[in-house]
Amino acid sequence: MTTTIIGFPRIGENRELKFNTEKYWRNEISETELLNFAKDLRLKHWQLIKQAGIDEIPSNDFSFFDTTLDTAYLFNIIPDAAKKLDLSNLDRYFALARGYQGEKGDLKALPMKKWYNTNYHYLVPQFTKATDIKLNDEKIFDEYQEAKDSGIQTRPVIVGPFTLLSLSEFHSVTADDFVDQLVNAYQEVFEKLSDQGAQWIQLDEPELVKDVTGEKKILFENIYQKLLQNKSNLKVLVQTYFGDVRDVYQDLINLDIEGIGLDFHEGRKTAQLVQSGFPDDKILFAGVVNGKNIWRNHYQKTIDLINSLSVKNLVISTSCSLLHVPFTIENETFAPEIKQHFAFAKEKLSELVDLQAILNGDTKLINKNQQLFDKPRVQPNESVRKRVDSLTADSFVRHPDLKERATIQKQEFQLPLLPTTTIGSFPQTKAVKKIRAQFRHNEISQQEYDEFIANHIKEWLDWQEEIGIDVLVHGEFERNDMVEYFGQNLDGYLFSKNGWVQSYGTRGVKPPIIWSDVARNKPITVKWSKFAQSQTDKIVKGMLTGPVTILNWSFPREDISVKESTIQIALAIQDEVLDLEKNGIKIIQIDEAALREKLPLRKTDWYSEYLDWAIPAFRLVHSKVQPTTQIHTHMCYSEFTDIIPAIQNMDADVISFEASRSNLEILDALQKENFQLQVGPGVYDIHSPRIPSVEEIKATIHKILQKVPQEKVWINPDCGLKTRGIKEAKASVENLTTAAKEVREEL
Ligand code: GLN
Ligand code: ZN
Repeated sequence: MTTTIIGFPRIGENRELKFNTEKYWRNEISETELLNFAKDLRLKHWQLIKQAGIDEIPSNDFSFFDTTLDTAYLFNIIPDAAKKLDLSNLDRYFALARGYQGEKGDLKALPMKKWYNTNYHYLVPQFTKATDIKLNDEKIFDEYQEAKDSGIQTRPVIVGPFTLLSLSEFHSVTADDFVDQLVNAYQEVFEKLSDQGAQWIQLDEPELVKDVTGEKKILFENIYQKLLQNKSNLKVLVQTYFGDVRDVYQDLINLDIEGIGLDFHEGRKTAQLVQSGFPDDKILFAGVVNGKNIWRNHYQKTIDLINSLSVKNLVISTSCSLLHVPFTIENETFAPEIKQHFAFAKEKLSELVDLQAILNGDTKLINKNQQLFDKPRVQPNESVRKRVDSLTADSFVRHPDLKERATIQKQEFQLPLLPTTTIGSFPQTKAVKKIRAQFRHNEISQQEYDEFIANHIKEWLDWQEEIGIDVLVHGEFERNDMVEYFGQNLDGYLFSKNGWVQSYGTRGVKPPIIWSDVARNKPITVKWSKFAQSQTDKIVKGMLTGPVTILNWSFPREDISVKESTIQIALAIQDEVLDLEKNGIKIIQIDEAALREKLPLRKTDWYSEYLDWAIPAFRLVHSKVQPTTQIHTHMCYSEFTDIIPAIQNMDADVISFEASRSNLEILDALQKENFQLQVGPGVYDIHSPRIPSVEEIKATIHKILQKVPQEKVWINPDCGLKTRGIKEAKASVENLTTAAKEVREEL
């Protein structure tokens, strides 16, 4: 029995990769310097993994931006326009990832999407009639060689063909058109690696944990049947993660492959599948150490699980790539009694090695680990628990119903048709970030800080009044991040200093950790909302983050269910909602930006495993407000067409979507499902610095009006403006208000 991992965080212990890459983008270092830096970093990581005692080490899990893009690049799945740009190999790669605008031409970035149920993003390969698959890049071979030259035998990793095709977009062509070419190209990779001396290849196939039936299953079978006809001497590991492979388990164990990687954490049925029979001539790569969360592994439980599998050939591994957890706990300053409960990527390596030792008879390690789990890690917060226990079905229902509220609120607010608003944040300029940092480091007084924020709010309120927005916002200048800000003001949360996880490219997030029961011990947003409202006669929206999003963007507890944690958070936010209401805030927006993100990968689990508690958690937050208080919510990403009834069931009065990027596809679904909430589908894309013209926005509004009754339509940008510059933010929103006014007059 040996140990391995699926992949390692490539960003580096102190996000060195980010800083060096960004330096390169700013022309502060040369291409050679960046490439050399990356080479050293890879070597450092391989050595670290080896020194930790891991037996089999992956390579090519490194990436300058994203491994799906790397795979597309390797196979020449590159739009013609990018090929024509007279750029170096590396710059062309970055052009695909981030777009290019310069003397060599103009190229839009590839679309970017969330990687399964994570907050990591991949670039979406594009297939067209012109796509010509062939080997185009040396990265995978070079990195294998690099490791080999320094005495480390590695297992190169690549996105598998089924997942690659499933994630790609096809324009006037289909996936089937490319199976043969793609399979040949993979085989060529196998052959080259085999010639170089590689023994294994790892094909990442997370797509297999989704529903794989019908045509999808035929595609999978077709690909693998062809691929395995000629796989050189290379041993093939088909690696899955983020769920179980119930639809294809039988197929997988019958394939002519040497290794199958399964996730025992998110894969609810994985153990059961393996127990039903695993072939002696294959190796099970058992993902028993959680690659997605930061808690210590419970060794006894893991050992019991492994023993229950009765598998002959076993490699113990992580449930998914360690890309999804921070690098190391070593530099964190938590008290030892807290720290001992955490394992980040580096610590998870030791856990694998410990588990191996235990399976080989070590008893000391298991006893020490058991002490962590012998008694409850934290004491329950009795008042929170009591409150949760006393909830009844009616606690989740707002009265009167939506329709009646709409009539009451219409009377109350007297808003024009097509009311305009924004999603909450205004540009977080360097000055804003600096003030927050200075305040955090005690370099300025509370009073100085408050004055700055107050002035900023006033300035932006004035501007909003000037251009005639109907429902104003205060701008969220006091918030670093929509989850961290709330976490810092709630009991039960912990924050790492350096717990960064890659989100996309050089961007990272630092998810807070839910340590114990969550409770609110003081108002969080009331001060600034109240202040903003006192400055104007127009309505200023209160702005909160919803419980599901707070949970989804945190590292959740494992000693209680995520459902229970979410309900606790919901009660805390409910208190905040009621406090805002008491303080004269008439419209309150509760953002659920990340609600879509954790939708289970299998459709059959959508309600039973998630929506059945996530939607009620949201309802709980606003169930007690007065009929005259209008509740808004906002959601990022546009792929909601399948869950419209669930969204309706959130029972907010108004919802805004981030839909403009996807051509407002959602409108048809809203129409079809007879969507009852008022809705602002987002009339322009805030992710681009581009300023939409009045005409363009008018056209979009008309498009919306074709599908949604006019009395239900709101006009707003499709997300917050915090990442935009002041100039473009103002110009865009000014055009938005002009467009709304002009369309109003036509109605
Ligand atoms: N209110 C938040 C903002 O405007 C919403 C952000 C989001 O949806 N990601 O920044
Ligand atoms: Zn958004």
